[in-house]
Amino acid sequence: MSDVLLKVEDLHTYFYTYEGVVKAVDGVSFDIRKGEIFGLVGETGCGKSVTALSIIGLIDEPGRIVSGKIIYKGKNLLELSEEERRKIRGKEISMIFQEPMTALNPVYTIGDQIVELLLLHEEGIANIKRAPKELKEEKKKKAIEMLKLVRMPDPERTIDSYPHELSGGMRQRAMISMMLATKPSLLIADEPTTALDVTVQAQILNILLDMKEKLGISILLITHDLSVIAEVTDRVGVMYAGNIVEIADTYALFDNPRHPYTVGLLQAIPSVTEKKEELKYIRGSVPNLIYPPSGCRFHPRCDYMMPICKKEKPKLVEIEPGHYVACHLFGGE
Ligand code: SF4
Repeated sequence: MSDVLLKVEDLHTYFYTYEGVVKAVDGVSFDIRKGEIFGLVGETGCGKSVTALSIIGLIDEPGRIVSGKIIYKGKNLLELSEEERRKIRGKEISMIFQEPMTALNPVYTIGDQIVELLLLHEEGIANIKRAPKELKEEKKKKAIEMLKLVRMPDPERTIDSYPHELSGGMRQRAMISMMLATKPSLLIADEPTTALDVTVQAQILNILLDMKEKLGISILLITHDLSVIAEVTDRVGVMYAGNIVEIADTYALFDNPRHPYTVGLLQAIPSVTEKKEELKYIRGSVPNLIYPPSGCRFHPRCDYMMPICKKEKPKLVEIEPGHYVACHLFGGE
């Protein structure tokens, strides 16, 4: 499909630990279309962050991508040299993290860090000290515009601040504007709002929506929070224990969830409009991924478990246009 920007096909990423092989991502497939926000949701440890790190090429020892394809603009990223991947990572695919301090340099002002990226990506100048003064001034003006784009309060003043002088929400804005300096086609946002309070969280989500709508950037949004998914995503993939169990348009997923795990997740959200006797929860706990359950990995926790569920892993099948489910209840054999 021509509107697909990135396609992940049957990705397996394992970690080789002393305790055994952790099958963190075990046969994940999905695609991200141009100009959409695709959400990946699931509990901690389900493999969503490992999927993101696999896409951007930041899986370190003892981890390894064992098999699969990550096709970006028609090229399988896993077949490129480290040098070619680094170019794509710096320029076309960017990532923002939960804790912006990991990406910001504490000894440089926000302005210097954005100007440095603009000089590198627009002029090919790697060292800010080597750039002519006028060029630096020009890039600084541009950096202020970029801070305005991410709704940074008082950007003319903030540009000369050091990261530690800013609040968590302002640091997150600074990191997003740095990412924008490289004009990425795809932004991966891993729990970008988890560490922020609710008001700031809403502001950062609005910035992500702006980036999609005004700049046409595709976004892969990783979160454990279904309310974040409902707020901004166009489509969503639900992950459980290293597998994708359901993919649908966000509206369809909330309106008509089909996989028993998705149903359980949605029932566990407190409602302000309905009075519930008791909040529902999914019984049992997330499995150990060194020794994952056979067949469907959700079977020990599923109320609909059938004999086949223990034996065969269900395939992701399209049950309605654009709505995919991996469950034997829907013929996923
Ligand atoms: Fe439940 Fe079986 Fe469906 Fe897994 S495949 S979610 S165990 S019904």
